[in-house]
Amino acid sequence: MTTGILGGGLCGVVLGADIQDSVVIEAESRVGGHCKTEIDKGYTYDMGGPHIIFSKNQEILAEMKSALGSKLGYGIRDNRCFYNDKFLQYPFENGISELSAEERYKFVRDFLHADQLGAPKNNLKEWLLQRFGNALANEYLIPYNEKIWNISSEKLTSDWVEGRIPMPSMDDMLKVACGLKTIGYAHQANFVYPTEGGIEVLVGAYKAKCKDIRVNEKVQKIDKRDDKWIVATNQNSYEFDEIVSTIPIHDLLKTLSNVPSEINYKAGLLKFNSLINVAMGYKRKNDHTYTAIYIPSEEHLSHRISFPRNFSLLNVPEGMELVNLEITVDTDADLFNAEDQFFKEESIKLLQALNLIDKQEIEYLKVCRTKHAYVVRDENYENSLKEVLNYLEELGIHSLGRNAQFEYINMDEAIRRTHALSKKFLTTN
Ligand SMILES: Cc1cc2nc3c(=O)[nH]c(=O)nc-3n(C[C@H](O)[C@H](O)[C@H](O)COP(=O)(O)OP(=O)(O)OC[C@H]3O[C@@H](n4cnc5c(N)ncnc54)[C@H](O)[C@@H]3O)c2cc1C
Repeated sequence: MTTGILGGGLCGVVLGADIQDSVVIEAESRVGGHCKTEIDKGYTYDMGGPHIIFSKNQEILAEMKSALGSKLGYGIRDNRCFYNDKFLQYPFENGISELSAEERYKFVRDFLHADQLGAPKNNLKEWLLQRFGNALANEYLIPYNEKIWNISSEKLTSDWVEGRIPMPSMDDMLKVACGLKTIGYAHQANFVYPTEGGIEVLVGAYKAKCKDIRVNEKVQKIDKRDDKWIVATNQNSYEFDEIVSTIPIHDLLKTLSNVPSEINYKAGLLKFNSLINVAMGYKRKNDHTYTAIYIPSEEHLSHRISFPRNFSLLNVPEGMELVNLEITVDTDADLFNAEDQFFKEESIKLLQALNLIDKQEIEYLKVCRTKHAYVVRDENYENSLKEVLNYLEELGIHSLGRNAQFEYINMDEAIRRTHALSKKFLTTN
Protein backbone atom coordinates (compact mmCIF):
# COMPACT_ATOMS: atom_id res chain seq x y z
CA MET A 1 0.00 0.00 0.00
CA THR A 2 1.89 3.08 -1.23
CA THR A 3 0.79 6.51 -0.09
CA GLY A 4 1.46 9.71 -2.02
CA ILE A 5 1.93 12.69 0.28
CA LEU A 6 1.40 15.89 -1.66
CA GLY A 7 3.40 18.73 -0.11
CA GLY A 8 6.40 18.53 2.22
CA GLY A 9 5.58 21.11 4.87
CA LEU A 10 5.48 20.07 8.52
CA CYS A 11 2.45 17.80 8.02
CA GLY A 12 4.00 16.20 4.93
CA VAL A 13 7.24 15.21 6.65
CA VAL A 14 5.55 14.10 9.89
CA LEU A 15 3.25 11.86 7.82
CA GLY A 16 6.18 10.61 5.74
CA ALA A 17 7.96 9.65 8.97
CA ASP A 18 4.85 7.85 10.27
CA ILE A 19 4.04 5.98 7.05
CA GLN A 20 7.19 4.42 5.70
CA ASP A 21 5.66 3.14 2.46
CA SER A 22 5.14 6.64 1.14
CA VAL A 23 6.56 9.29 -1.16
CA VAL A 24 6.59 12.97 -0.12
CA ILE A 25 6.31 15.24 -3.16
CA GLU A 26 7.39 18.84 -2.60
CA ALA A 27 7.28 21.69 -5.15
CA GLU A 28 10.07 23.76 -3.59
CA SER A 29 13.77 22.95 -3.53
CA ARG A 30 13.54 21.81 0.10
CA VAL A 31 10.84 20.62 2.51
CA GLY A 32 9.53 22.76 5.38
CA GLY A 33 6.74 24.91 3.92
CA HIS A 34 5.84 27.62 6.45
CA CYS A 35 8.52 26.25 8.78
CA LYS A 36 11.54 27.02 6.61
CA THR A 37 14.44 28.99 8.09
CA GLU A 38 16.87 31.27 6.30
CA ILE A 39 20.47 31.25 7.52
CA ASP A 40 22.32 34.01 5.69
CA LYS A 41 25.34 36.20 6.52
CA GLY A 42 25.15 35.21 10.19
CA TYR A 43 21.42 35.95 10.52
CA THR A 44 18.92 33.17 11.26
CA TYR A 45 15.17 33.70 10.94
CA ASP A 46 12.02 31.84 9.98
CA MET A 47 10.93 32.85 6.50
CA GLY A 48 7.18 32.33 7.03
CA GLY A 49 7.16 34.59 10.11
CA PRO A 50 8.60 33.72 13.53
CA HIS A 51 7.65 30.21 14.64
CA ILE A 52 7.90 29.50 18.36
CA ILE A 53 6.97 26.19 19.96
CA PHE A 54 4.29 26.15 22.66
CA SER A 55 1.29 23.94 23.32
CA LYS A 56 -1.35 23.03 25.86
CA ASN A 57 -1.02 19.47 24.53
CA GLN A 58 1.75 18.09 26.75
CA GLU A 59 2.26 14.94 24.67
CA ILE A 60 2.85 16.85 21.43
CA LEU A 61 4.94 19.47 23.22
CA ALA A 62 7.19 16.70 24.58
CA GLU A 63 7.48 15.23 21.06
CA MET A 64 8.48 18.59 19.56
CA LYS A 65 11.05 19.18 22.31
CA SER A 66 12.53 15.76 21.82
CA ALA A 67 12.70 16.35 18.04
CA LEU A 68 15.02 19.33 18.63
CA GLY A 69 17.57 17.01 20.35
CA SER A 70 20.79 18.83 21.27
CA LYS A 71 19.36 22.07 19.83
CA LEU A 72 16.55 22.25 22.38
CA GLY A 73 16.40 25.82 23.72
CA TYR A 74 14.00 27.92 25.76
CA GLY A 75 12.89 31.53 25.56
CA ILE A 76 11.04 33.81 27.93
CA ARG A 77 8.19 35.66 26.30
CA ASP A 78 8.60 39.42 26.58
CA ASN A 79 5.93 40.53 24.12
CA ARG A 80 4.75 44.12 24.14
CA CYS A 81 1.88 46.17 22.75
CA PHE A 82 2.91 49.55 21.42
CA TYR A 83 0.24 51.94 22.62
CA ASN A 84 0.52 55.73 23.06
CA ASP A 85 4.32 55.59 22.82
CA LYS A 86 4.55 52.94 25.54
CA PHE A 87 5.67 49.31 25.33
CA LEU A 88 2.91 47.75 27.39
CA GLN A 89 2.97 44.17 28.58
CA TYR A 90 1.20 41.65 26.31
CA PRO A 91 -1.68 40.79 26.12
CA PHE A 92 -2.93 44.35 26.25
CA GLU A 93 -5.43 43.75 29.07
CA ASN A 94 -2.54 42.79 31.34
CA GLY A 95 -0.52 45.80 30.17
CA ILE A 96 -3.23 48.18 31.39
CA SER A 97 -1.56 48.08 34.84
CA GLU A 98 1.28 50.21 33.41
CA LEU A 99 -1.03 53.07 32.34
CA SER A 100 -2.04 56.18 34.31
CA ALA A 101 -4.81 55.86 36.91
CA GLU A 102 -7.25 57.68 34.58
CA GLU A 103 -6.54 55.28 31.71
CA ARG A 104 -6.73 52.20 33.95
CA TYR A 105 -10.10 53.44 35.19
CA LYS A 106 -11.40 53.88 31.61
CA PHE A 107 -10.41 50.38 30.43
CA VAL A 108 -11.55 48.55 33.57
CA ARG A 109 -14.80 50.55 33.85
CA ASP A 110 -15.77 49.63 30.29
CA PHE A 111 -14.77 46.01 30.88
CA LEU A 112 -17.02 45.84 33.96
CA HIS A 113 -19.91 47.38 32.01
CA ALA A 114 -19.53 44.99 29.07
CA ASP A 115 -22.51 42.75 28.39
CA GLN A 116 -20.46 39.56 28.71
CA LEU A 117 -23.39 37.27 29.42
CA GLY A 118 -25.63 38.69 26.69
CA ALA A 119 -26.75 36.84 23.56
CA PRO A 120 -23.76 35.66 21.52
CA LYS A 121 -22.63 38.07 18.81
CA ASN A 122 -22.09 36.95 15.23
CA ASN A 123 -19.26 39.16 14.08
CA LEU A 124 -15.83 39.75 15.58
CA LYS A 125 -16.33 43.47 16.14
CA GLU A 126 -19.51 42.97 18.18
CA TRP A 127 -17.94 40.03 20.01
CA LEU A 128 -14.93 42.11 21.08
CA LEU A 129 -17.13 45.01 22.21
CA GLN A 130 -19.39 42.64 24.12
CA ARG A 131 -16.62 40.73 25.86
CA PHE A 132 -13.98 43.41 26.51
CA GLY A 133 -15.99 46.66 26.62
CA ASN A 134 -15.68 49.77 24.45
CA ALA A 135 -12.25 51.08 25.43
CA LEU A 136 -10.27 47.81 25.10
CA ALA A 137 -12.12 46.85 21.92
CA ASN A 138 -11.94 50.24 20.18
CA GLU A 139 -8.45 51.27 21.19
CA TYR A 140 -6.57 48.01 20.76
CA LEU A 141 -8.40 44.80 19.86
CA ILE A 142 -10.41 46.00 16.86
CA PRO A 143 -7.60 47.97 15.15
CA TYR A 144 -5.07 45.20 15.76
CA ASN A 145 -7.37 42.46 14.45
CA GLU A 146 -8.30 44.51 11.39
CA LYS A 147 -4.62 44.85 10.57
CA ILE A 148 -3.71 41.20 10.98
CA TRP A 149 -6.83 39.94 9.16
CA ASN A 150 -6.73 42.71 6.57
CA ILE A 151 -10.53 43.04 6.59
CA SER A 152 -13.18 44.89 8.59
CA SER A 153 -13.85 43.09 11.89
CA GLU A 154 -17.57 43.29 11.07
CA LYS A 155 -16.94 40.92 8.16
CA LEU A 156 -15.23 38.30 10.33
CA THR A 157 -17.34 35.76 12.17
CA SER A 158 -16.83 35.19 15.89
CA ASP A 159 -17.39 31.41 16.07
CA TRP A 160 -13.64 30.67 16.12
CA VAL A 161 -12.43 33.15 18.73
CA GLU A 162 -13.62 31.45 21.92
CA GLY A 163 -10.37 30.23 23.52
CA ARG A 164 -8.20 31.78 20.79
CA ILE A 165 -8.71 35.26 22.23
CA PRO A 166 -8.82 34.28 25.93
CA MET A 167 -10.78 36.41 28.38
CA PRO A 168 -8.94 37.95 31.33
CA SER A 169 -10.31 36.90 34.72
CA MET A 170 -12.21 39.42 36.86
CA ASP A 171 -9.44 39.08 39.45
CA ASP A 172 -6.78 40.04 36.86
CA MET A 173 -8.82 43.07 35.81
CA LEU A 174 -9.11 44.21 39.43
CA LYS A 175 -5.35 43.80 39.83
CA VAL A 176 -4.55 45.83 36.68
CA ALA A 177 -6.99 48.52 37.87
CA CYS A 178 -4.84 48.82 41.01
CA GLY A 179 -1.64 48.89 38.91
CA LEU A 180 -0.58 45.35 39.90
CA LYS A 181 1.31 43.10 37.45
CA THR A 182 -0.47 40.00 36.07
CA ILE A 183 0.47 37.40 33.47
CA GLY A 184 -1.89 36.53 30.62
CA TYR A 185 -1.73 33.55 28.19
CA ALA A 186 0.30 31.67 30.82
CA HIS A 187 0.87 28.62 28.56
CA GLN A 188 2.92 30.89 26.26
CA ALA A 189 4.90 32.67 29.02
CA ASN A 190 7.89 30.47 28.18
CA PHE A 191 8.46 28.95 24.79
CA VAL A 192 10.70 26.46 23.11
CA TYR A 193 12.95 27.41 20.20
CA PRO A 194 16.05 25.78 18.69
CA THR A 195 19.33 27.18 20.01
CA GLU A 196 20.53 27.31 16.42
CA GLY A 197 19.12 26.62 12.98
CA GLY A 198 15.66 28.13 13.53
CA ILE A 199 12.36 26.27 13.32
CA GLU A 200 13.51 24.21 10.34
CA VAL A 201 15.40 22.04 12.86
CA LEU A 202 12.00 20.66 13.87
CA VAL A 203 11.20 19.77 10.27
CA GLY A 204 14.65 18.20 9.89
CA ALA A 205 13.97 15.68 12.66
CA TYR A 206 10.95 14.25 10.80
CA LYS A 207 12.56 14.61 7.39
CA ALA A 208 15.37 12.33 8.54
CA LYS A 209 12.83 9.57 9.16
CA CYS A 210 11.11 9.81 5.75
CA LYS A 211 12.06 7.08 3.26
CA ASP A 212 11.39 8.91 0.00
CA ILE A 213 11.20 12.66 -0.52
CA ARG A 214 11.10 14.27 -3.96
CA VAL A 215 11.81 17.99 -4.13
CA ASN A 216 11.45 20.45 -7.02
CA GLU A 217 8.40 18.45 -8.06
CA LYS A 218 5.20 20.39 -8.34
CA VAL A 219 2.03 18.31 -8.42
CA GLN A 220 0.26 19.34 -11.61
CA LYS A 221 -2.34 16.69 -12.38
CA ILE A 222 -4.16 14.00 -10.43
CA ASP A 223 -6.27 11.24 -12.00
CA LYS A 224 -7.81 8.02 -10.77
CA ARG A 225 -7.43 4.89 -12.90
CA ASP A 226 -8.51 1.40 -11.79
CA ASP A 227 -8.33 2.15 -8.08
CA LYS A 228 -4.91 3.76 -8.43
CA TRP A 229 -4.06 7.43 -8.15
CA ILE A 230 -1.88 8.78 -10.92
CA VAL A 231 -0.03 11.88 -9.76
CA ALA A 232 1.85 13.84 -12.42
CA THR A 233 4.46 16.40 -11.46
CA ASN A 234 6.64 18.63 -13.64
CA GLN A 235 9.20 15.79 -13.67
CA ASN A 236 7.56 12.41 -13.06
CA SER A 237 4.41 10.38 -12.89
CA TYR A 238 3.62 8.25 -9.81
CA GLU A 239 1.07 5.56 -9.01
CA PHE A 240 -0.35 5.45 -5.48
CA ASP A 241 -2.98 3.47 -3.60
CA GLU A 242 -3.84 6.42 -1.36
CA ILE A 243 -3.11 10.12 -1.50
CA VAL A 244 -3.00 12.74 1.26
CA SER A 245 -2.95 16.37 0.20
CA THR A 246 -1.30 19.03 2.33
CA ILE A 247 -1.14 21.56 -0.52
CA PRO A 248 -3.47 24.60 -0.56
CA ILE A 249 -7.04 23.54 -1.22
CA HIS A 250 -7.43 26.00 -4.15
CA ASP A 251 -4.30 24.60 -5.84
CA LEU A 252 -5.39 20.99 -5.35
CA LEU A 253 -8.70 21.62 -7.15
CA LYS A 254 -6.76 22.94 -10.17
CA THR A 255 -4.99 19.57 -10.52
CA LEU A 256 -8.27 17.62 -10.79
CA SER A 257 -10.41 17.12 -13.91
CA ASN A 258 -14.16 17.61 -14.06
CA VAL A 259 -14.56 19.52 -10.80
CA PRO A 260 -18.24 20.60 -10.67
CA SER A 261 -18.68 24.34 -11.20
CA GLU A 262 -20.53 24.60 -7.87
CA ILE A 263 -17.43 23.30 -6.05
CA ASN A 264 -15.14 25.72 -7.89
CA TYR A 265 -17.57 28.51 -7.03
CA LYS A 266 -17.52 27.55 -3.33
CA ALA A 267 -13.73 27.35 -3.33
CA GLY A 268 -13.66 30.85 -4.83
CA LEU A 269 -15.53 32.06 -1.76
CA LEU A 270 -12.76 30.80 0.52
CA LYS A 271 -10.58 33.83 1.13
CA PHE A 272 -7.03 33.87 2.39
CA ASN A 273 -4.35 36.46 3.08
CA SER A 274 -0.68 36.52 2.17
CA LEU A 275 2.19 37.55 4.40
CA ILE A 276 5.22 39.72 3.81
CA ASN A 277 8.04 39.08 6.26
CA VAL A 278 10.75 41.75 6.12
CA ALA A 279 14.04 40.64 7.70
CA MET A 280 16.38 43.52 8.50
CA GLY A 281 19.81 43.37 10.13
CA TYR A 282 21.59 46.40 11.58
CA LYS A 283 23.91 47.49 14.37
CA ARG A 284 22.20 46.96 17.71
CA LYS A 285 21.03 50.12 19.45
CA ASN A 286 20.28 48.53 22.84
CA ASP A 287 20.03 45.15 24.51
CA HIS A 288 16.26 45.04 25.03
CA THR A 289 14.65 41.67 25.76
CA TYR A 290 11.50 42.08 23.61
CA THR A 291 10.48 38.97 21.73
CA ALA A 292 7.66 40.63 19.74
CA ILE A 293 5.88 43.98 19.62
CA TYR A 294 2.25 44.28 18.50
CA ILE A 295 1.43 47.43 16.54
CA PRO A 296 -2.29 48.35 16.36
CA SER A 297 -1.70 51.79 14.80
CA GLU A 298 -2.99 52.22 11.24
CA GLU A 299 -0.07 54.53 10.55
CA HIS A 300 2.26 51.56 10.06
CA LEU A 301 1.85 48.59 7.71
CA SER A 302 3.24 45.95 10.02
CA HIS A 303 1.03 44.44 12.72
CA ARG A 304 3.83 42.62 14.56
CA ILE A 305 7.58 42.84 14.71
CA SER A 306 9.84 40.31 16.39
CA PHE A 307 13.45 39.90 17.38
CA PRO A 308 15.04 36.48 16.67
CA ARG A 309 18.02 37.51 18.89
CA ASN A 310 15.75 37.05 21.88
CA PHE A 311 14.76 33.56 20.71
CA SER A 312 18.44 32.57 20.62
CA LEU A 313 21.60 34.69 20.75
CA LEU A 314 23.06 32.58 17.94
CA ASN A 315 20.48 34.02 15.53
CA VAL A 316 22.47 37.24 15.02
CA PRO A 317 26.10 38.19 14.44
CA GLU A 318 27.89 39.74 17.44
CA GLY A 319 26.68 43.29 18.18
CA MET A 320 23.95 43.19 15.54
CA GLU A 321 20.16 43.29 15.69
CA LEU A 322 17.74 41.34 13.51
CA VAL A 323 14.10 42.29 13.21
CA ASN A 324 11.26 40.56 11.38
CA LEU A 325 8.35 42.78 10.37
CA GLU A 326 5.13 41.00 9.38
CA ILE A 327 2.61 42.59 7.04
CA THR A 328 -0.66 40.95 6.01
CA VAL A 329 -1.70 41.69 2.43
CA ASP A 330 -4.27 40.72 -0.16
CA THR A 331 -2.72 38.14 -2.43
CA ASP A 332 -3.83 40.07 -5.51
CA ALA A 333 -2.85 43.51 -4.21
CA ASP A 334 0.10 45.35 -5.78
CA LEU A 335 1.58 45.59 -2.29
CA PHE A 336 2.35 41.85 -2.33
CA ASN A 337 4.92 42.41 -5.07
CA ALA A 338 6.04 45.92 -4.10
CA GLU A 339 9.77 46.69 -4.34
CA ASP A 340 12.01 45.59 -1.46
CA GLN A 341 13.13 49.23 -1.11
CA PHE A 342 9.55 50.23 -0.26
CA PHE A 343 9.39 47.68 2.57
CA LYS A 344 12.80 48.78 3.79
CA GLU A 345 11.70 52.41 4.06
CA GLU A 346 8.42 51.49 5.78
CA SER A 347 10.29 49.28 8.22
CA ILE A 348 12.83 51.98 9.11
CA LYS A 349 10.00 54.47 9.66
CA LEU A 350 8.34 52.12 12.13
CA LEU A 351 11.55 51.25 13.97
CA GLN A 352 12.35 54.96 14.29
CA ALA A 353 8.88 55.63 15.72
CA LEU A 354 9.63 52.92 18.28
CA ASN A 355 13.06 54.44 18.96
CA LEU A 356 14.71 51.09 18.19
CA ILE A 357 16.96 52.33 15.43
CA ASP A 358 18.97 55.51 14.77
CA LYS A 359 20.37 56.44 11.41
CA GLN A 360 22.56 53.35 11.19
CA GLU A 361 23.14 51.46 7.96
CA ILE A 362 20.91 48.52 7.20
CA GLU A 363 23.44 45.73 6.79
CA TYR A 364 20.99 43.02 5.80
CA LEU A 365 17.62 43.03 4.04
CA LYS A 366 15.47 40.26 2.69
CA VAL A 367 11.76 40.34 1.93
CA CYS A 368 10.06 36.91 2.15
CA ARG A 369 6.61 36.44 0.65
CA THR A 370 4.18 33.67 1.70
CA LYS A 371 1.14 33.40 -0.54
CA HIS A 372 -1.07 31.20 1.66
CA ALA A 373 -0.70 32.53 5.20
CA TYR A 374 -4.03 33.19 6.95
CA VAL A 375 -7.50 31.87 6.19
CA VAL A 376 -10.20 34.54 6.45
CA ARG A 377 -13.20 33.39 8.46
CA ASP A 378 -15.96 35.43 6.92
CA GLU A 379 -19.64 34.54 6.50
CA ASN A 380 -18.93 32.20 3.55
CA TYR A 381 -16.18 30.26 5.24
CA GLU A 382 -17.89 27.47 7.15
CA ASN A 383 -20.43 26.36 4.60
CA SER A 384 -18.15 26.65 1.56
CA LEU A 385 -15.31 24.81 3.26
CA LYS A 386 -17.56 21.95 4.33
CA GLU A 387 -18.78 21.45 0.75
CA VAL A 388 -15.33 21.52 -0.81
CA LEU A 389 -13.80 19.18 1.79
CA ASN A 390 -16.74 16.76 1.49
CA TYR A 391 -16.25 16.69 -2.27
CA LEU A 392 -12.56 15.82 -1.88
CA GLU A 393 -13.27 13.19 0.76
CA GLU A 394 -15.88 11.57 -1.50
CA LEU A 395 -13.28 11.37 -4.26
CA GLY A 396 -11.05 9.58 -1.74
CA ILE A 397 -8.51 12.38 -1.26
CA HIS A 398 -7.50 12.98 2.35
CA SER A 399 -6.87 16.63 3.21
CA LEU A 400 -4.41 17.46 5.97
CA GLY A 401 -2.90 20.65 7.42
CA ARG A 402 -3.25 24.39 7.55
CA ASN A 403 -3.83 25.17 3.89
CA ALA A 404 -5.35 21.87 2.75
CA GLN A 405 -7.94 21.81 5.55
CA PHE A 406 -8.04 25.60 5.35
CA GLU A 407 -7.94 26.19 9.09
CA TYR A 408 -5.96 28.44 11.37
CA ILE A 409 -3.88 25.76 13.11
CA ASN A 410 -0.49 25.89 14.78
CA MET A 411 2.35 23.39 14.55
CA ASP A 412 1.20 21.38 17.58
CA GLU A 413 -2.26 20.85 16.09
CA ALA A 414 -0.76 20.14 12.65
CA ILE A 415 1.35 17.34 14.21
CA ARG A 416 -1.54 16.01 16.29
CA ARG A 417 -3.80 15.78 13.23
CA THR A 418 -1.06 14.11 11.21
CA HIS A 419 -0.53 11.36 13.80
CA ALA A 420 -4.30 10.88 14.08
CA LEU A 421 -4.55 10.40 10.30
CA SER A 422 -1.59 8.03 10.08
CA LYS A 423 -3.00 5.93 12.93
CA LYS A 424 -6.26 5.60 10.98
CA PHE A 425 -4.31 4.71 7.83
CA LEU A 426 -2.10 2.13 9.48
CA THR A 427 -5.00 0.38 11.18
CA THR A 428 -7.31 0.29 8.15
CA ASN A 429 -4.79 -0.42 5.36
C1 LIG B 1 2.79 33.94 9.94
C2 LIG B 1 2.65 32.60 10.61
C3 LIG B 1 3.21 32.43 11.87
C4 LIG B 1 3.06 31.22 12.53
N1 LIG B 1 3.61 31.08 13.76
C5 LIG B 1 3.48 29.92 14.42
C6 LIG B 1 4.06 29.76 15.72
O1 LIG B 1 4.70 30.68 16.26
N2 LIG B 1 3.90 28.57 16.35
C7 LIG B 1 3.20 27.52 15.79
O2 LIG B 1 3.06 26.48 16.44
N3 LIG B 1 2.65 27.64 14.56
C8 LIG B 1 2.77 28.80 13.86
N4 LIG B 1 2.24 28.93 12.59
C9 LIG B 1 1.50 27.78 11.99
C10 LIG B 1 2.40 26.77 11.26
O3 LIG B 1 3.16 27.44 10.27
C11 LIG B 1 1.52 25.70 10.58
O4 LIG B 1 0.66 25.10 11.48
C12 LIG B 1 2.31 24.57 9.89
O5 LIG B 1 3.50 25.03 9.33
C13 LIG B 1 1.42 23.93 8.84
O6 LIG B 1 2.13 23.02 8.05
P1 LIG B 1 1.44 22.36 6.77
O7 LIG B 1 2.26 21.20 6.39
O8 LIG B 1 0.00 22.14 7.03
O9 LIG B 1 1.45 23.48 5.63
P2 LIG B 1 2.61 24.13 4.72
O10 LIG B 1 3.74 24.52 5.56
O11 LIG B 1 1.93 25.19 3.92
O12 LIG B 1 3.06 22.94 3.73
C14 LIG B 1 2.51 22.72 2.47
C15 LIG B 1 3.63 22.31 1.51
O13 LIG B 1 3.08 22.01 0.23
C16 LIG B 1 3.97 22.47 -0.77
N5 LIG B 1 3.18 22.62 -2.02
C17 LIG B 1 2.26 23.56 -2.34
N6 LIG B 1 1.78 23.33 -3.57
C18 LIG B 1 2.38 22.21 -4.04
C19 LIG B 1 2.27 21.45 -5.23
N7 LIG B 1 1.43 21.79 -6.22
N8 LIG B 1 3.04 20.34 -5.37
C20 LIG B 1 3.89 19.95 -4.38
N9 LIG B 1 4.03 20.64 -3.24
C21 LIG B 1 3.27 21.75 -3.05
C22 LIG B 1 4.46 23.80 -0.20
O14 LIG B 1 5.64 24.21 -0.83
C23 LIG B 1 4.66 23.42 1.27
O15 LIG B 1 5.94 22.94 1.51
C24 LIG B 1 2.35 30.15 11.91
C25 LIG B 1 1.82 30.31 10.62
C26 LIG B 1 1.96 31.52 9.96
C27 LIG B 1 1.39 31.69 8.59
